[in-house]
Amino acid sequence: MGNTTAILSALAQEQQGLIEQLEAPRQVHRAGRAYWLGRLQGREVILALSRIGKVAAATTATTLVEAFDARRIVFTGVAGGLGRDVLIGDLVVADGFVQHDMDASPLFPRFEIPLYGQTGFACDAELSECLAQACRASLGAVPPAGRAPGLHRGLIVSGDQFVSTARSAEQIQGALRHAGMEPLAVEMEGAAVAQVCHDYNIPFAAVRTISDRSDEASPNDFQHFVTHVASRYARAIVDQLMPLLPRS
Ligand code: SAH
Repeated sequence: MGNTTAILSALAQEQQGLIEQLEAPRQVHRAGRAYWLGRLQGREVILALSRIGKVAAATTATTLVEAFDARRIVFTGVAGGLGRDVLIGDLVVADGFVQHDMDASPLFPRFEIPLYGQTGFACDAELSECLAQACRASLGAVPPAGRAPGLHRGLIVSGDQFVSTARSAEQIQGALRHAGMEPLAVEMEGAAVAQVCHDYNIPFAAVRTISDRSDEASPNDFQHFVTHVASRYARAIVDQLMPLLPRS
C-alpha cells in the first residue's frame, strides 16, 4: 500500500522550489495537468498544481486520489487577508473551509452545500497540527519586512472570484458573519479540495500565506508577493513538514 503525500500548489512560482528538491523526479500527465512524482527527504510525494478556481482544483484533487492513490493532501498557497489582524506575510493554517459563493437559498440555507447537509468541511486535525508546527518552525525563513509574520488558525473561505475591492471583501465577511462565521482569509480553491477529500475520506490540511488584503491594492500586492516571496515560504514549510508526516 502506498503512502504518498500530495502537495498541491496554486501557482507555478510556488511549486518550482519544490520540484527543484524532488528526488528521482518523474513527470506524468493526466487531464491536461502535469504531476511530479518523486521523494522529498526520502518520503513519497506527488506535486501538482491545483490550477485556479474551485472546479479546476476539484479535478486535480480527484485525480490525485483516483489515479495516483494519494493518502493525504496538503495545500500550500497564497490568499487574501480578511481578518483585521491577518496581514500580508502572515500564515493561516485552515481549521476548515466554506464556499463563500455557495447560495442555493431559499431551498437550502445560505452557504450550505446541497445534499451534504453541511456548510463547511473541516481539515484533518492531526495533519493540520503537523502543518502548523512546520509553519512555526519556518516563520523565520523569510526576512520580515519590518514586522515578524504571524501564524493564525481558523476559517478560510473559497470562491470563484479574485477579491480586489474593500467593498466585496466586506460583503463576503458580512454575509458569513451573519451566518455565525468569521473568515480569516479568502482564496479560490481550498473548499473544493476539502470537499473532495471529505468524499474520499482522506486527510486534508492547508496553509495560505497572505499575499494581499483583498482590497484595491490586491492585484499589485499579489503579483509582488508571488514573484518575490511565496516560493520561499512554500519551500521552507514543506521542508519542515516532511519529517512530521506519518510513516504509514
Ligand atoms: N493571473 C493570476 C491569477 C491569480 S488568481 C496569476 O496566475 O498570476 C489568485 C490566486 O491566488 C488564486 O489561486 C487564489 O487562491 C489566491 N488569492 C490570492 N489573493 C486572493 C484574493 N484577494 N482573492 C481571491 N483569491 C486570492
